[in-house]
Amino acid sequence: MLDLSRARDRMVDMQIARRGINDPHTLEAMRRVPREAFVEAGFEEFAYEDSPLPIGEGQTISQPYIVAHMIAAAAIKPGETVLDVGTGSGYAAAVASQIADRVYTIERHPPLAEAAGRRLHELGYDNVEVRVGDGTKGWPEAAPFDVILVAAGGPEVPRALKEQLVTGGRLVIPVGLDETSQRLLKLTRTSQSDYETEDLGAVMFVPLIGEQGWSDGSGNLA
Ligand code: SAM
Repeated sequence: MLDLSRARDRMVDMQIARRGINDPHTLEAMRRVPREAFVEAGFEEFAYEDSPLPIGEGQTISQPYIVAHMIAAAAIKPGETVLDVGTGSGYAAAVASQIADRVYTIERHPPLAEAAGRRLHELGYDNVEVRVGDGTKGWPEAAPFDVILVAAGGPEVPRALKEQLVTGGRLVIPVGLDETSQRLLKLTRTSQSDYETEDLGAVMFVPLIGEQGWSDGSGNLA
């Protein structure tokens, strides 16, 4: 594998810290995880560019800045448990795993979930568990979560995800009626029945497909 550690440090300095993300846990985690190990073969030299990259199945590994933005906004702390919806390559789960105690990550495309699971295991991210399934339903057996990160955009916030947050827990999710009108929302569960919502700005994510997201286009819910 190429040694891209200097490119990685430069990415953190120029694309993340310089854009105002100063949470030390996030910056340190982004400096540790080798994004080149999560991109498709042949794309390693582009791993630290300021953009998403293809990972197969029509999906993408998110832009480094957006991964850092979501993790910093969720303010993941040591000792916490995280649910990551939309494993994709496994990169965001790996970054979160450098701060959290345990990360559960769920992906609807079996080939992506299998590749991410293998990659995370080979790289030694032993506090990450990968599952194939519909993440709009959460992961009831592992709930509740301190933080839920959703890397795909749906028409509304899935009820199951809200219910699987601890009181004080944070859910960061893109919501919008199409890809061009998505807003990144942060919900904080302030009591058993109350949530505070903060709008973190415009974003563009692939669709969240599932029972509490978009239909898969086949007429059946995924
Ligand atoms: N965070 C990922 C990474 O670091 O590579 C990138 C995620 S990619 C932008 C979004 C992923 O969400 C895709 O792999 C897509 O298949 C997945 N996805 C969409 N709807 C889903 C659902 N209901 N449950 C689980 N995964 C879903």
